[in-house]
Amino acid sequence: MPRTTEQRYSCHGCAGCCRDFTVELRPDDLARLEEQRWAERLGHSPTVEFRGRVWLRQKADGSCIFLEADGRCRIHAEFGLAAKPLACQLFPFVPMPGANGVQVGLSYACPSMIHNRGAELNSHLDDLRRLLRSLPELAEAKRRILLTGRLEASSREERDIIGAFERLIGRVDLPMEQRLDGCVWLTAMLRKAKLDAVRNERLKDLLDLLVDSFEEEIDGASPPPPSARQMKMLRQAVFAHIEDVKIGDVGRSGRRGRALRQFLAHRRFGRGVGDVGPIAAGWPETLRFEMVDRVAPARDQRQVREIDALTMRYLRSRIINGRAWGPGYYGLPIVTGLEALWLMWAATGWLARLHAGAIGRGEVTMADVEAALLRTDRAAGRAPWLGARGEQLRLAWLATGDGLRPLRRAMRLTDEPAE
Ligand code: SF4
Repeated sequence: MPRTTEQRYSCHGCAGCCRDFTVELRPDDLARLEEQRWAERLGHSPTVEFRGRVWLRQKADGSCIFLEADGRCRIHAEFGLAAKPLACQLFPFVPMPGANGVQVGLSYACPSMIHNRGAELNSHLDDLRRLLRSLPELAEAKRRILLTGRLEASSREERDIIGAFERLIGRVDLPMEQRLDGCVWLTAMLRKAKLDAVRNERLKDLLDLLVDSFEEEIDGASPPPPSARQMKMLRQAVFAHIEDVKIGDVGRSGRRGRALRQFLAHRRFGRGVGDVGPIAAGWPETLRFEMVDRVAPARDQRQVREIDALTMRYLRSRIINGRAWGPGYYGLPIVTGLEALWLMWAATGWLARLHAGAIGRGEVTMADVEAALLRTDRAAGRAPWLGARGEQLRLAWLATGDGLRPLRRAMRLTDEPAE
């Protein structure tokens, strides 16, 4: 089960996942769809093949072929929950090989997860156990976790690193801003340390020392503002997180058409002036890069409280529940995975500002963070280019000097509440 006990969730039937995700099917899903005789009833196959894999067919707007006008799933309505494809039944739980069997991460591309609405996670245990029985390969998979480069981490070292970040993020006596700056600083220290010479007990000692001393080390030393090049790389990282390949789009415009659109969008995000282009359904139509600069972090007390609580739940969940490195994040080493997480959080801050600016707000609100996180978390673990060599080079470049502190700080979501 996910270890973040502060998180609650029940499905509230918003159908957001049915509109947004492309669902890959397993052989047992295909057998069930066949038994349900959809090809006969729909007059065409409910599935499509793409790059050698089989997916649920989507309508022209990208939503699932089985999504009805009232927001209900037709398979669920006619045959019950257990008749749906496994991925649909599992969402927003994300199973993966863990240190002791299967580990379950949480996706925040779900409004109920973002707003912490519903039952305690333990109440889903029986359903999860039933679903995981269909994925025996996860329990048997060999799990290899790296610290940095090719240096393999022991389970104890991974546990100690998780523990250090838990301690740091959990310092509720300190403002969230300071805790996050500490987390990014701690990651930069791990990148700089010669970890091959600091193993097991010595790594634990180093982590304890860094966590205990971080306030003094970064006290009063706000990172410098990001350079133009760092901002350009952040915008490109935003694009990498929101890029969404719908199977239907590829079919309609062909690979070349899609590649051209991607190239133009990538260049637009690199330049950072003028029209941003569309982000996703439900976003304002007019989006301009300049809007981001006009928006400040949240200062309204209620907004700050809500955003900080979400920040804490989200980042803890990514680190503790296995979605920041290793099999839950493209096999990246722990330090690189943490850097990717801080870059993703800065990208979320950038997108939240864009959303706020487009609506005419001068400060970020929880609604803007929700709109942004629904996009950026959606990509975590599902967009292979985020784990590719080019992305790792971007992270390595951004991790030099002050590391990702300038970007993370500039894109912070909240400031201390106004009195
Ligand atoms: S996005 Fe979340 S709340 Fe909405 S239908 Fe999917 S699982 Fe349920």
